[in-house]
Amino acid sequence: MHDKTEQAPVDASVLRLAPAMQLLQQSGHVLPDRDRVDRVVWMQAVIDALCELSSRDPLTGLANRRQFELALASEIDRVARAGEPALVLMIDIDHFKKINDGHGHPAGDLVLKAIAQVLHDCIRPMDTLARVGGEEFAMILPNCPPSFGLTVAERVRLKVQGRAIAITPGQQVHVTVSIGGAFAPQWVRSSAPLWIERADQQLYRAKSEGRNRACLEEPVVSLVSAEEKGLLFGTSQFQDFE
Ligand code: GH3
Ligand code: MG
Ligand code: MG
Repeated sequence: MHDKTEQAPVDASVLRLAPAMQLLQQSGHVLPDRDRVDRVVWMQAVIDALCELSSRDPLTGLANRRQFELALASEIDRVARAGEPALVLMIDIDHFKKINDGHGHPAGDLVLKAIAQVLHDCIRPMDTLARVGGEEFAMILPNCPPSFGLTVAERVRLKVQGRAIAITPGQQVHVTVSIGGAFAPQWVRSSAPLWIERADQQLYRAKSEGRNRACLEEPVVSLVSAEEKGLLFGTSQFQDFE
């Protein structure tokens, strides 16, 4: 029996790499010169580039929904272990269909890119920003004290509202966003779908109360004792205590 770690690396020349190469070329990825680097180094570069490609939204360059869900799951782990509060914001452009209908789909795309940039300017390096749907974005804000939640969401909302977006030379539009937010319950192992659902409920509230507003769920107060907190580490049977 061979030890797997001692097996020779797969010869890249026997793999069907053409579809991967086409995708990477089309997306503008530049790989190291195949003849100048070690085969394993080159294959690793291909794998890294494909991972990058499958985690990004091509229009805005932001993380996509898949990457967002991964980041959310690891943030839930961190919250349960460290007990730091974390906020997730779901951000949906208001009446976006009117932009497409009134100015055309390419103009709609320009608006999406501009809003992605505005949102990107609002985040800290440790935050995650993703495009999770057509005109819907999401932010994960680790270590965000509950008392700051609404201030953060309002700052995002006002930045979007204040941004003039050029859709043709000399023609600008403004859009607004509705924001729904929820905190991960501290010290309690929650689930990513539940966390998103709670933020989505707040987004729905923001839409139904008139749009261009931010609604946040009251932070969940954990009733878990210090001893129980210790027991929660490393367990997975605990779901939301709401
Ligand atoms: P609301 O305020 O309720 O959110 O209304 P809305 O018009 O923003 O929402 P609705 O769901 O009715 O419309 C979303 C539109 O977003 C419809 C769809 O054609 C458009 N859309 C989705 N993805 C893209 C995209 O990548 N580019 C462009 N230009 N439009 C997109
Ligand atoms: Mg919308
Ligand atoms: Mg929407």
